[in-house]
Amino acid sequence: MSKNLTKRETDYSKWYNELVVKADLAENSGVRGCMVIKPYGFAIWEKMQAQLDKMFKETGHENAYFPLFIPKSYLSKEADHVKGFAKECAVVTHYRLKNAEDGSGVVVDPEAKLEEELIVRPTSETIIWDTYRKWIESYRDLPLLINQWANVVRWEMRTRLFLRTAEFLWQEGHTAHATEKEAIQEAELILDIYGDFAEKFMAMPVIKGLKTASERFAGAIETYCIEGLMQDGKALQAGTSHFLGQNFAKAFDVQFTSKEGKREHVWATSWGVSTRLMGALIMTHSDDLGLVLPPNLAPIQVVIIPIHRNDEQLDAISEKINQIVKELRSKNISVKFDNRTTHKPGWKFAEYELKGVPLRIAMGPRDLENGTLEIARRDTLEKQSISQENVVDFVEKTLKEIQENLFTKAYNYRESHIIEVETFEEFKHILNTKGGFVSAHWDGTAETEDKIKELTKATIRCIPLNNKIEEGKCVLTGKKSTQRVLFAKAY
Ligand code: AMP
Repeated sequence: MSKNLTKRETDYSKWYNELVVKADLAENSGVRGCMVIKPYGFAIWEKMQAQLDKMFKETGHENAYFPLFIPKSYLSKEADHVKGFAKECAVVTHYRLKNAEDGSGVVVDPEAKLEEELIVRPTSETIIWDTYRKWIESYRDLPLLINQWANVVRWEMRTRLFLRTAEFLWQEGHTAHATEKEAIQEAELILDIYGDFAEKFMAMPVIKGLKTASERFAGAIETYCIEGLMQDGKALQAGTSHFLGQNFAKAFDVQFTSKEGKREHVWATSWGVSTRLMGALIMTHSDDLGLVLPPNLAPIQVVIIPIHRNDEQLDAISEKINQIVKELRSKNISVKFDNRTTHKPGWKFAEYELKGVPLRIAMGPRDLENGTLEIARRDTLEKQSISQENVVDFVEKTLKEIQENLFTKAYNYRESHIIEVETFEEFKHILNTKGGFVSAHWDGTAETEDKIKELTKATIRCIPLNNKIEEGKCVLTGKKSTQRVLFAKAY
C-alpha cells in the first residue's frame, strides 16, 4: 500500500480515513460501524486513559465495573432517557443457536428466547442507579464517586473511525450527592478536568459551555461540554458532563437519610469521554505527511535511526546509541532505537513521520567521528545537528517546546475562527467560506435552532460558560436576545 496520503486541501475526509489506516491506528472490521484498534492506536488511547484515570483518582473517584447487559425494563424507568436512546439500542433476545434443519449452518433457537430482553448498554445510568439503591442508605454514604472504563454500543447509522462508531470505548463517571449544589460542583469539576486534559495533554484548545435543551443528554437537567475545532473548520464535541438532578434517583428510588433524619432523593451526575478523543487528536494537529502527536501522548517520543553501510559501522553506532537510549529513559522519555536491517533509513524516516513521532534522531559514521547527531522535529520538520553531549537536555527542552507549539498553533487557528456576526447573510457567508465557530445572538427557542440547522446544517455547539451578557437580536428572527451562542457545522 502506498504510504502517500491524500492532501487535506483536496479531500479532508479522505485524508482522515487514509491516515487512520496508514498510520496503523485502526481499521474497519467485518461488523458495520465497529473498528479494530491496532496496537499503535491503542497505545495512544492507553496514554489518554492513564492520564485521565490519574486525574479522576486525584479528585477522589474510584473505578468499578457494571454489566454489559441492561434489562429492558431498567432502561424504560427514566422516560426521557429511554426516549433518547431507544432508536440506537442493540437488543439481545435469545441465548442459544442450533443447527439449521436444512444443514445450512446455525440459526437462533426459538426455544431459547429470553424472558426479559437485554439491552447492550448504550450508557450505564440505569443499571448503576439500580445498584446505587442498595449502596446508599444515609448521608454518610455520600458522595459516591465512581467511574468505569468500558465499551458501549449505540447503533449509529453514519459511522467514522474513532469519531462515531457503533461500539466505542470510553469512561463513564456516575456520582451521587446529598445536595444539588454538590452535584453541580461535581459536574463542573469534571468539565475542568476534561478541559485541562484536552489542553495540556492533547494540546487541543477547547471551549467550555452548556448544551441547549435539544442537544442535552437524554435524562439530564444540564449538559456541560468541551468543544474543539478541527482543521477543516468543523467543531467536535469532545466530552460531556451532565448534571442529572434527581431524575435517576427518583426513577430508581434512591433515597438517603439526611443529617436531619429526613428521607431525600440523592442528586446525580454522569460524565464521559470516548475513543472519539483519538479522532480529535488526529484532526487537530496532523498534516499531509501524517500524524503529528503531542509529546505528552506519543507512545514513542523519540525514535533513533542508525545510518550505516555495514555491520561494523552499525555495531559502533549502536554502542553510542544504546548509551543515549539509557540516558533518555532515565529521564522518563520513551525512546525507540530502530536498528532493523530489514528496512532502509529513508523508509524508516517516512514511517515515523507518518506515525507522528515528535523527535527523530539519526546517527551515521560521520556523526560518530564528530560526536554529533542529527535531530528532526515532526511539528516544524526542522533539522539540526547537535553535540551528543547535549542530547538529553536538548530532547527534554524540545519535547516541551513541541507540546507548547502544537497548542499555540491550534489555539491561534481556533481564535481566528470564532467570528461574531449580526445578520443571517453574514452567518451563512462565514459558514460557507471560512467555517469555524460563528458567534451569534439566538432567541433561545428550539424552533429557531432547528430552522437554522435546516437552512445551514450548523448547530448550536454550546452556550459558552464565560459568556458576557449583551443586548442583541436573534440572527434569524430578530427577536430580543441577551447573549451570543456558538454555532458551527460539526462532526
Ligand atoms: P454522551 O453519553 O452522549 O454524553 O457521550 C459521552 C461521550 O461519548 C461524549 O464525549 C461523546 O463525544 C462520546 N460519544 C458519543 N457517541 C459516540 C460515538 N458513536 N462514537 C464515539 N464517541 C461517542
